[in-house]
Amino acid sequence: QKLDDGLEKTKSSFFDKLGKAVAGKSSVDDEVLDDLEEVLISSDVGVDTTIKIINRIEARVARDKYLGADELNVILREEIAGLLKASEKENQVVQPSNEVKTPFVIIVVGVNGVGKTTTIGKLAAQFKKDGKKVVLGAADTFRAAAIDQLQIWAERVDVPIVKQQMGSDPASVAFDTVQSAVKQDADVVLIDTAGRLHNKVNLMNELTKIKRVMQKVIPNAPHDVMLVLDGSTGQNAFEQAKQFTAATEVTSLAVTKLDGTAKGGVVIGISDQFQIPVRYIGVGEAIDDLQTFDKIEFVDSFFK
Ligand code: GDP
Repeated sequence: QKLDDGLEKTKSSFFDKLGKAVAGKSSVDDEVLDDLEEVLISSDVGVDTTIKIINRIEARVARDKYLGADELNVILREEIAGLLKASEKENQVVQPSNEVKTPFVIIVVGVNGVGKTTTIGKLAAQFKKDGKKVVLGAADTFRAAAIDQLQIWAERVDVPIVKQQMGSDPASVAFDTVQSAVKQDADVVLIDTAGRLHNKVNLMNELTKIKRVMQKVIPNAPHDVMLVLDGSTGQNAFEQAKQFTAATEVTSLAVTKLDGTAKGGVVIGISDQFQIPVRYIGVGEAIDDLQTFDKIEFVDSFFK
């Protein structure tokens, strides 16, 4: 229900436009395809992914000779679900217990304001609810407010936080956090980082160092590098994904603020373009407004 409500704006704008594109049409012709292209692009699916979808539908039109306009919904839904393949991967957060059990370490990256801290807080709450022991690390030492914000979430969720003062070395905070987590026999570690994209070399160096240093404690850490993107920024989110994936290996995505935006199509485009699984979507500010991404549920709620 929350998902349906959260995606309401995207859905209504998308179907409103789609409805206009097929109005009075009995079959999918070139004009309908042109209009569909516009609908997808204006829903922030992204140009490349839109072209991919149009080409596939074109191929189906050519194959089936005649495709009724009323069938377009069904086909579009199938094609979009097919594109979200990268997000099919299991949302497994705790590593298989093959070797010595260590905490599952997630480094959370993304520019300021996208909802990084909120996402970490919401995740900590979910993990805790699942009976997992969580430790937070305040490795965004660039802004005092970032440390304070994370501290507030730590208190709210009632989980330990490891921090140092502003300006300290983020890698040192990450090291302390992981070490403390091992000592406490924690299950999950969530490390907040500074998202200073304007200095790409710094960003790259900082993340590389954080990884290297934590590997002294847990050799195969981090187990996940999660990029948080603000879904309401549409094409900006694409640009950020491009820059972060160039700076480090991003292994999962969380797309926030899908409530209150008509740009929900961005989830489809980003998952397709970067072939990184979308693991979570944010559909509100409350603690339980972070949902595990399920591609079928997502596409269904889009087309319901
Ligand atoms: P950070 O700078 O990336 O750590 O961003 P914050 O976590 O401080 O979030 C910035 C603002 O976005 C806050 O006001 C959050 O409440 C809000 N926010 C985060 N996630 C969502 C979401 O999924 N939906 C909505 N509507 N707001 C969100």
